[in-house]
Parts: sequence; structure tokens; C-alpha cells
Amino acid sequence: GACVTACPVNAITYGDNSLLFLRDLVTPSKVVITQMAPSVRVTIGEAFGFEAGVNVEKKIAAGLRALGVDYVFDTTWAADLTIMEEAAELTDRLKRYLAGDETVKLPILTSCCPAWVKFIEQNYADMLDVPSSSKSPMQMFASVAKDLWSREHNLDRTDITSVAIMPCIAKKYEAARPEFSRDLNYDVDYVLTTNELIKIFKDTGIDLKEIEDEEIDQVMGEYTGAGIIFGRTGGVIEAATRTALEGLTGKKFDTIEFECLRGWDGFRCSEIKVDDDLTLRIGVAHGLKEAKKMLDKIRSGEEFFHAIEIMACTGGCIGGGGQPKAKKRAETLEKRMEGLNNIDRSLTLRRSNENPTIQVIYDKYLDYPLSHKAHELLHTQYFVRPKK
Ligand code: SF4
Repeated sequence: GACVTACPVNAITYGDNSLLFLRDLVTPSKVVITQMAPSVRVTIGEAFGFEAGVNVEKKIAAGLRALGVDYVFDTTWAADLTIMEEAAELTDRLKRYLAGDETVKLPILTSCCPAWVKFIEQNYADMLDVPSSSKSPMQMFASVAKDLWSREHNLDRTDITSVAIMPCIAKKYEAARPEFSRDLNYDVDYVLTTNELIKIFKDTGIDLKEIEDEEIDQVMGEYTGAGIIFGRTGGVIEAATRTALEGLTGKKFDTIEFECLRGWDGFRCSEIKVDDDLTLRIGVAHGLKEAKKMLDKIRSGEEFFHAIEIMACTGGCIGGGGQPKAKKRAETLEKRMEGLNNIDRSLTLRRSNENPTIQVIYDKYLDYPLSHKAHELLHTQYFVRPKK
């Protein structure tokens, strides 16, 4: 259908798991938990008469509970965790690079878009040390849920059905990567796209316009403004910059919004002055063509960046192939983006390192970003893959 043709790498044909989801919800022995990507809350409402960009996360929570979901959590929480690891990686690579270590590879590439990760694995085998080794927020969430949260609730990982509500079909492919499973039990059991969840709500008579708001479950529901902007182009690198600047200088920066990283150009380049000795060159690309252009320039040495963000979809995940189809596409994407920016602006905590529940998880289980334990649970590796 529409989703498959909209998928920029045309890679994924993984099926619709809606019926499996409905069956799991009525199976008493299964504890069903969900996570929803940052972008979903500003798009799903369009199918129920809301304007694009209106945050309906509390309606989604109510709708999922009405279906029988046991715990409604939020991928955005794990986006903050991703930034802790990714910003630490960036800081670490930069410090070693500046100290003259020639083994360090720059730029670092954000790795939460599985369509791009796969594209690099297939086409840039010589650049597999460019992507950050941090798992995507979806996979970080799922690792924590099945390995740590389960323990606190006296559950085995096999008791949990972990469902992710995502903007695209590429996320189904990511969830099915064998490295994200243990003994054939996958960290994410399956992914539903926004459009698939819309159909489930409609078929079961759940109207998001009518339903009363409900809160998202804690603790894997608390997020900062940095986590929420993951859903739009430039957001992941902006979130990483907010935290990395503190890591690099030991100082809190007043600047939160980096206008230079924002906008709609398919391939943009910004310079952020850290101090007298260091100005970061950051690249942002979205959409298949522009992103490829950027990687080719990096490979040939024509461009140098310290860090880059690449998203396969125009606009980032707000433009994902599993999102509602918009009649006036550019206008709708703009509203969705503004919706995410408004949530970010409305929050007191806007840096991932300020998320108190993330600090707790390091204190309790993971020690500190890039620790041995954090590596085991939150990082992954990339493989050379044949072109199809
Ligand atoms: Fe999926 Fe597109 Fe987001 Fe990549 S940018 S994760 S393909 S929705």
C-alpha cells in the first residue's frame, strides 16, 4: 500500500501485526506494553479531526488503555537516554581527535533512522565506523523494558509483549534485526505504524476526539524537550548538541534553540562556536538524494563535519511513510514540526541530561554513559550487507 511505496529505501514489506496485537491484548498471560515515537502524537490526531501538530499523546494513552494495553510508555523517554549515550560518544571522539588521536573517526552520524543505517551498510561498507553505536530510542526503550523494568516487576522477558508505535515501516525491519533479540525473543515484539493504529482505533470504535485524556505511565514516560524534537529533521543533532556542549566545556550553555540547525533545506551545514579553540561543524540532511550527496562529499574529503544527522524521510519522522497521508503536504509537515517545537518550548526541562528518571537509571543500573554496562545494553554494531 501507500506505506511501502513511501518508504524511501523501498526495503520493507514486513506485515501488519494488528491482528496479532488484538489477540495478545486478550491473552491473559501476556503483559502488553507500548511505546510511541515522538512524532506520532502530532500526526495521529489528523485522522480524528484534529489539526496537524496538535499533541494528542494523552488521548493515545487513553485509547491504548481502552484497547487493553497494560502499560503505555513513551519512546521519547528513551530518546533522552539515546542522547546521553550519543552526546558522550561525540564528546569522547572530539576530545580524542583534538588531542591528536588519528584513529578517531569523524563525523559521528546519528543512528536512529534504520532506513539510513541499512543504506550505509549496503552502500558505504568503508564508513561503518561513522554511525554512532548507540541503539535507536525504540531499541533502547525495548532493551531497558525487557532487561531492567521486567526484573523490577518480577517478570520474565518472555512474559512481556513489547509493541512499538512508529512512523514508518523501516522500524519493522529494525525490530527484526537478530542482534536485537535473545533466544529468538525480540526486544520489540512487533511494530505498528501510526496508520495501522488509526485503523485499529477506528475498527474498535475508539474516537480520539471524544476520549478523555489519560496520563502516560511512569517512569518510562517522562521526557524532556530534547527527546521530543527527535521527530523532526535536525532535532536529534540539536538535542545532542544541547548535552554535548556541557560535556565539552563543563559549563551550562544558555542557548537551547539552535536556529542554524533548523529549517527545510535538504542539506544544511552549520557552525556552532564552542569556545575560542573549537567551532563545531554540523551537517543535517533529510531525504534520500540529499543525504547521499552529503555522504559522498564526506567520503571524498570535500566536506568535513564533526557530526551529522541523516533522516531518510523529508522532514524527518513527521514525514514517515507510516504517517497519515496529507493533502497539503508541505503545510502539514510544517504544522507537525511546529507542534513538536511547541512541546519542546512548553517544557521546563529541555536537555536530556536533566531528565530525572534517566539519572535514576544510571544510578541504579548503568553507572554512567558509555560505561561497560551501558555498552552491553544500549549499544549495537553494524554489518556490511549485500545490495538487493
Ligand atoms: Fe523511519 Fe523516515 Fe523516521 Fe527514518 S526518517 S526512522 S525512515 S520515519
